[in-house]
Amino acid sequence: MFHVSAWHGPSDGVVDITSYGFVIDNRRCIGCHACTVACKAEHDDPIGVNKTWVKYVEKGEFPDTNRNFSVMRCNHCDDSPCTDVCPVTALWEREDGIVDFDPERCIGCKACMQGCPYDALYIDPETDTAAKCNYCSHRVDAGREPACVTVCPEDAILAGDMENPETHISETISSQEVQARKPEKGTEPKLFYVDGDEGSITPGSTAREEHYMWSDAPNRVETRGAAREEFDLDEAARSLAASDVSLPSDGDGGSERSDARADGGAADCGCDECQCGRAGDDGGRGADGRGPASDGGYDTAPNGGTGQATSGGGSGGSQGSRSRTERAYELLHEEARRVYDVGETHYRSWGWEVYAYTWTKSISAGVLLLPTLLMLAGVLDPSASVLGISALASGFFLALTGVLLVLDLERPERFHWVLLRPNWNSWLVKGAYVITAFGAYLGLVVLGWLLGVGAVTHPVVLATGAVLAAATAVYTAFLFSQSKGRDLWQSPAMPLHMFAQAVVAGGAAVALLGVVGPASFDPLVGPAALALGAGVLGHAAIVASEIFTPHQTEDAEEAAARIVRGRFRTPFWAGGVVVGILAPLVVLALSGVLTVGLAGPLAGLLALAGLLAFEYCWITAPQTISLA
Ligand code: SF4
Repeated sequence: MFHVSAWHGPSDGVVDITSYGFVIDNRRCIGCHACTVACKAEHDDPIGVNKTWVKYVEKGEFPDTNRNFSVMRCNHCDDSPCTDVCPVTALWEREDGIVDFDPERCIGCKACMQGCPYDALYIDPETDTAAKCNYCSHRVDAGREPACVTVCPEDAILAGDMENPETHISETISSQEVQARKPEKGTEPKLFYVDGDEGSITPGSTAREEHYMWSDAPNRVETRGAAREEFDLDEAARSLAASDVSLPSDGDGGSERSDARADGGAADCGCDECQCGRAGDDGGRGADGRGPASDGGYDTAPNGGTGQATSGGGSGGSQGSRSRTERAYELLHEEARRVYDVGETHYRSWGWEVYAYTWTKSISAGVLLLPTLLMLAGVLDPSASVLGISALASGFFLALTGVLLVLDLERPERFHWVLLRPNWNSWLVKGAYVITAFGAYLGLVVLGWLLGVGAVTHPVVLATGAVLAAATAVYTAFLFSQSKGRDLWQSPAMPLHMFAQAVVAGGAAVALLGVVGPASFDPLVGPAALALGAGVLGHAAIVASEIFTPHQTEDAEEAAARIVRGRFRTPFWAGGVVVGILAPLVVLALSGVLTVGLAGPLAGLLALAGLLAFEYCWITAPQTISLA
């Protein structure tokens, strides 16, 4: 129960609070940063990190410029991916809709930072735990507004129960046109913008700089690279017009002009830079260059007149109707520029430990999976020594995997909380239990082999090992799919890809054991080379489908472009493709010349090196995409 009378709502009664949210009214925001400062003071946050901040985006050319402010923070999503992926319930959704956070529970795994598509979380440099806006839940519990709401001099931030029709926020949402960030993510964000500016709330539409007016943002995410250089305005305008994206509204209510030119609808406007059909307009900005308060930078009038605010969408007054393509040109012509921001906090939050861990985990799973499957299929006679040595090698790489997982934590001393304080929605937890069970299995098999227990090669024991090895190989795919902030990782082929990688790694490791291991591994050399070849072909086919086929989102497309022709092109092509795919296949094809005993291990070494290069690209490139 909560008194809403102290808030913006007209009610002075006591109502049930069910869904707290925010509205940022961009018609009122003056970009003063008071909310940022109040938030830092309220939470005593250290320098360099922010729970809320204001992004400035400018459009147009002097003197016809327009600056838009966007207050960024946690959206308190109704379907929050951060709470799903957090392994220790350090993040959770309260009954009143606030997504709260407890640093005392956090282990610093940074999974929430991969799960959040909005870059709302960061690692606090003083506590080494994650942090984000928690709606000032301590103030809410005391019957007070969040600090940012209290301090805003323009009443531009509305907070309250969106389900209560008597609150100001509810009234605003129902009467104004509002925008949310990335609604396509399905997270149901509860932060809405009145007059939300497309260039501000779409991260990929503006370039990031290293330095801004009052802030540095070094070593952070990158702007669009190759994709920007190859930008084709005409093609982009035609494609935008054909899409269902909302465009700058037309002055007469948006009626489409039927005589839009078949070549893209552009008219001769005298504009030096494009064929935007704007007839020398000033973009609809007022004489002060800031534009009409209600137009959000889009809904502009060609004569410089200001649009009249209606329900957030605005109207353009005397603009006259324009084709959808012309409006697309207008939107694209006004290239937005990010002129003030803070550094993105998620940049490569999963570093070398994570791509090294997926690699060692593939080896661990594959080196046991291959012999057990061969024994189960009757290709190889059951052999306790083969199984025991494979389990020993698998256990070594599994231990390395565990060490890397712990090393990646910001609070490594809390690693055991993943098992002891589990959030069963998180694939980090499920994966931790799978790894633990696999480790226990490996220990028992090694013990049984050393003690001469014949049952270690019983089909049930072998099948159990195969299932655990496969689960160990594949579970990470589901963890990546919980990382909603990384579009490229949402590939449905990921489980299959993880399995193929385990086959590659297993074939390579067993082929190498054929060289350094005892004679009992000799019969495995040929099948291992065959498995390696099949795994590499499968891996290549899935890489091709994941990287080269069209992607569902721009971010996924951009991440793939960065791998193929951006800064990751050398490790991808030289390491992942040439060393990891082509060279092993050539070596295996020459096995008649080299003998399979030499070709298998050589191809295996090449494939393992290439797999590591690919994992580096796959894990790192999507993290360089700007989320805010
Ligand atoms: Fe906030 Fe991001 Fe979690 Fe949504 S996913 S509730 S924006 S931290």
